[in-house]
Amino acid sequence: MDQSGQKATNNSRIDSKFKYVISNIHGGEKLLNCFQCGTCTSDCPIARFSDTYRPRQIIRMAQIGLRNRVLSLDALWLCASCFTCTDHCPQDVEVANVIRVLRNLAAQEGYIPNVFKELGSSILETGYAYRIPELRIKRREALGLPPLPRGNPENLGRILQNVHFKKLIEKRGQQ
Ligand code: SF4
Ligand code: SF4
Repeated sequence: MDQSGQKATNNSRIDSKFKYVISNIHGGEKLLNCFQCGTCTSDCPIARFSDTYRPRQIIRMAQIGLRNRVLSLDALWLCASCFTCTDHCPQDVEVANVIRVLRNLAAQEGYIPNVFKELGSSILETGYAYRIPELRIKRREALGLPPLPRGNPENLGRILQNVHFKKLIEKRGQQ
């Protein structure tokens, strides 16, 4: 089988225990309550502007055990954690927390989208998510603007070391 066929097979594999893994993690306990009414999707501010982000579908994939497919979804990282879905769910599913649980599992397996890995490595190196270009710093100096506050990557690095942050952003998911 070619590489894309292999990927398709991996992504469509069913892990019947996956729902229990999620249900046993704090925030994921009510996953199985979902009866697919779609309220979470219809009220989600991100789904309104995205063609791919559908919290109801994410919950369903998690319920039926499409483990690799859901963990490798880039859309998983679009959630703004606004908790509207959780507040409106008639079944008390903590949708936003289920998505957090899925993201944590995805991160452990290396499925963090590159854009967030880039932000993470910038935080480790500079203390800021955005690397300020040298040119901009020089322009500020030329304009007589005060220097920007310095980040503290050493302290941040020490804090993030405890959650193995560097390892997480360097890990690559199965392609
Ligand atoms: S609102 Fe609740 S019950 Fe309805 S689809 Fe979303 S998670 Fe499921
Ligand atoms: S927490 Fe995430 S999934 Fe829920 S409504 Fe907000 S953006 Fe949408």
